[in-house]
Amino acid sequence: MSTETTGGLFDLTGKVALVTGASRGIGKTLALGLAAQGADVVVNYASAADRAAEVVAEIEAMGRRALAIKADVSQEADADRLVAEAVEAMGRIHILVNNAGIVLPANAEDQSLDDWRRTMSVNLDGVFLVSRAVGRHMIAAGGGSVISIGSMSGRIVNWPFRHAAYNVSKAGVHMLTKCLATEWAEHGIRVNAIAPGYIRTELTDEVLKEHPGVVRDHWAKGAVQNRIGETRELVSACVYLAAESSSFTTGEIITIDGGLTLR
Ligand code: NAP
Repeated sequence: MSTETTGGLFDLTGKVALVTGASRGIGKTLALGLAAQGADVVVNYASAADRAAEVVAEIEAMGRRALAIKADVSQEADADRLVAEAVEAMGRIHILVNNAGIVLPANAEDQSLDDWRRTMSVNLDGVFLVSRAVGRHMIAAGGGSVISIGSMSGRIVNWPFRHAAYNVSKAGVHMLTKCLATEWAEHGIRVNAIAPGYIRTELTDEVLKEHPGVVRDHWAKGAVQNRIGETRELVSACVYLAAESSSFTTGEIITIDGGLTLR
């Protein structure tokens, strides 16, 4: 295969991506990574308007179009408005990255029903609601690629911190990925997920503040590579799933965890 052909496989020029929860962390890095391959990007956020505006400015500095839209993905009206505004402004959504997610740790016996429901609402309802709205658009427009950020926690019960609601919500994201891939193949829509292991973000930094030894004693120790990951280490999988490179890949969950779930 020529270099030119290989390069073209990952080219996203002229494509529009919507990334939820893109004001920081994994979502921000994926938004920038898609833009670096040529995509225009809609940057969704829940509350951090200033940070979303910085991500937009970074993408525009690459010569791409970008737009920040505030929306709580767990709310049906917000999810529908997010997608309507994105299509209105950009004309099309070719790529959806369902990244927004939260963790509310608790022992199962102490978990409040409110926290359980909030976790499901953001992590699972949010993926369903935004996918449904984007799916309707993609069906009408002739196809696209949906990528959801699941987790290794959808495959294993990670330890020592306890967050059953999070684990169950991510297992749901993985199954929803397979269901949507099956239903929407006839519309030219591919639906896949990435299941990261521990990735250093502000989310994990909050845990590290309280438990400084957790990487050495648990998170890195569990991974055969003996470390946690960086957000940039998820970009190439996201680009692969977004682009023509993955034209025969659908319903797949790509685990990127430094080997943590191997044993
Ligand atoms: P993070 O740093 O806490 O960032 C979360 C992002 O989601 C923020 O941009 C936040 O927006 C947004 N968000 C939260 N609730 C939202 C809502 N209701 N509607 C719209 N946006 C919302 O998290 P992260 O570590 O980057 O994680 C990103 C995703 O990867 C999550 O789905 C997480 O479960 C998954 N994941 C993370 C790891 C890890 O080790 N970090 C491992 C596996 C999977 P605002 O800033 O505006 O509030």
